[in-house]
Order: sequence, then C-alpha cells, then structure tokens
Amino acid sequence: MKEKSLAFGICIMLMAATVGCNPAHQSRQNWAVHDMNRPQPTIVTAASAPGGPPSDAIVLFNGTDLSEWTSDKQGQPAGWKVENGYMEVVKKSGSVHTKRRFGDCQLHIEWATPAEVSGRGQGRGNSGVFLMGKYEVQVLDSYGNTTYPDGQAAAIYGQSPPMVNASRGPGQWQTYDVIFHRPVFKGKKLVKPATITVLHNGVLVQDHWIIQGTTLHKKRAAYTPHEDKLPISLQNHGNPVRYRNIWIRELPEQQ
Ligand code: MG
Repeated sequence: MKEKSLAFGICIMLMAATVGCNPAHQSRQNWAVHDMNRPQPTIVTAASAPGGPPSDAIVLFNGTDLSEWTSDKQGQPAGWKVENGYMEVVKKSGSVHTKRRFGDCQLHIEWATPAEVSGRGQGRGNSGVFLMGKYEVQVLDSYGNTTYPDGQAAAIYGQSPPMVNASRGPGQWQTYDVIFHRPVFKGKKLVKPATITVLHNGVLVQDHWIIQGTTLHKKRAAYTPHEDKLPISLQNHGNPVRYRNIWIRELPEQQ
C-alpha cells in the first residue's frame, strides 16, 4: 500500500510539473468524489455584456487600433482601415497577423461581410481566420450564396463543411467562438493532429474536427511540422470584410 501511495504521489508531482498548477488539469487525477482537498477552479470574471472578453482574455482588437497586429508583408504595419469600432480589409494591403503567438486557445471574433452584395461564390465577402496562420476557418457571405460546401462560411476550408449554415445576411455582425488545440510534432513526425470546435453565431458547426493538415488551395491538406506557437492571421481576399471584438484565452495543453 505504501508503495502504491508513493507511486501515486510521484505521479501527481510529475503531472503538476508537466502542466503547472492549473486546477483544471489536476481535476483529471483520481480524486475521491466530492473531495474538498481538490483545488478550486481559478476565478475568472465574465464580461458584463454577452460576447465580451472575460478577465483572463488577451484583447486582440477592441475597435480602436491595430497595435496587436502586423502585416504579412515583411516589416510593414497592418494596412487595414480602422473606423467606427471595426477593422476592414483594404485591397492589396496584405493579410494581417497577430504580433503574439498562440497554440491551444479559445478565440472569439466577430465579422461582417459587405452590406452591398458584390460577386458570387468564393468572390462574395471572402476572408478567413487562420489558426496558427495555417488552419483556416472560412469567412464568406454564405447567406443565399452557393459555393462548394467545404468552402462556405464556418467551413474548415477544403476539409469540413459546417454542420449547418448559421449565416446572417450581408452587413450583419456574426460571431465565431473557436476552441483550438494545436498539432504536436516530434521532429518531423506528427504525433497528434490539431482539433477544432467552432460555434457560428452561437450554433455548433464544427464539433472537435480533427484537422487534416495545413489549409491548401485545391489540394488535400497536409501537415508540415512547425513551432508550438504561431500568430493568428486574418485573410485579405480583396473583399472589404470587417472584424471587431477579437479576444483570446490561452488554454492549457491537453495531456
Ligand atoms: Mg477565405
């Protein structure tokens, strides 16, 4: 029995060393039911308004400036327009990405395609949210606009159509709430694929989808090994799509 207790204690110490002191992880251990010694969850103050950032979020865009963003054109500042509480894609200014890098995360982002409808299919309100700059959740005006299902709004582009089309009309603000877990590589080998869950306007549209690889155009996705943390990018597809209220919570890595 003593040996068992010792082994259990060492196991707990190792897990704590691996994942830090996050109670959420400690809660996966073999606690007795209703054990009062179990660590209490960290207190996070929720936003007073729905969709607002909780107290432990990093605000990536609050409607005033692009200080958290930079251009994908080497050495240039983010070239998108900021006005009236949103940022808007500016043609030929390149895509933008966060200065900070992220791996596992919860991301909230709001977007609107142009109120004035122009183009069709992939040419209507196209943009995209790229987790780690590589895995695209498609942004598109998919309200009465038919395109290939794995390329409509809330699709994991080229891989997984949304479970339902929860799109609002052109010009209306829409939300994505994303839970993302990064892929894990050992050297050049993929040992764990990325997974993604997406709610579009509060509707579940991607349910823990196992990402098949880096988003590619007209090619099946494939993984290329990369760092544990990378910037999030927003796509410039030439359409004046708007974004606002972007915040992120870094998540502890799943064991
Ligand atoms: Mg796109």
